[in-house]
Amino acid sequence: MPEKIDTVYSACDRAIKVMNRENLKLFGQLKASRFDELNVIRKVTELYRTSAENARKRYYEVAFEVYVLILMWCGTDAKTAHEMAERTITEKWVASILKDPDLMTLYSFDAEAERKAQRLVEALSATEWKIREIDKALKLWSRQLGQYAINVTDYAAMQAYEDAGIEKVQWVTQKDEKVCADCGPLDGKVFLLQDVPLKPHWGCRCFWIAVLETD
Ligand SMILES: [Zn+2]
Repeated sequence: MPEKIDTVYSACDRAIKVMNRENLKLFGQLKASRFDELNVIRKVTELYRTSAENARKRYYEVAFEVYVLILMWCGTDAKTAHEMAERTITEKWVASILKDPDLMTLYSFDAEAERKAQRLVEALSATEWKIREIDKALKLWSRQLGQYAINVTDYAAMQAYEDAGIEKVQWVTQKDEKVCADCGPLDGKVFLLQDVPLKPHWGCRCFWIAVLETD
């Protein structure tokens, strides 16, 4: 199992790439538009709404893929894993993650999307440096989208472990170029599923592998 650990964020990484492309286009269109006051509110609100909708679809795909992957790691056959995913990983499941304040980011995805839209509207009406403000907003929004791609991956994995009846997991830091320096002390530690600590920092790509009683 551990040798496959690097594949767990590949759905997440693909989603981030797609979202970045979508957002470059959306924010690019905004940059190219005229900035009369009424238009700005409508356009910016619309932009964040569209982008959040797109993200929701990507997160659903990520969660589904990760959930199936983890179930199969735990010994579930592919057909059963897909059936379980169809039942568990629904649009509603994704929506519930995005609605409530997340314990790591400390905000709700949905509420923060609205706040970010409002802030950009304010910035655009307050400054002549509109392109700079739009670029800044894109950067911050991409950061949120990227973090939630990780969050969705993690929630889907934990859901799969729970549904597979796994009781204990081991914390594993990623052995790639993105390894988290802050998480070193957690590497290799075993936790009951319900006691796994929160990830210590944004962008943390540590993961958990099942501890089977026969190990
Ligand atoms: Zn980490």
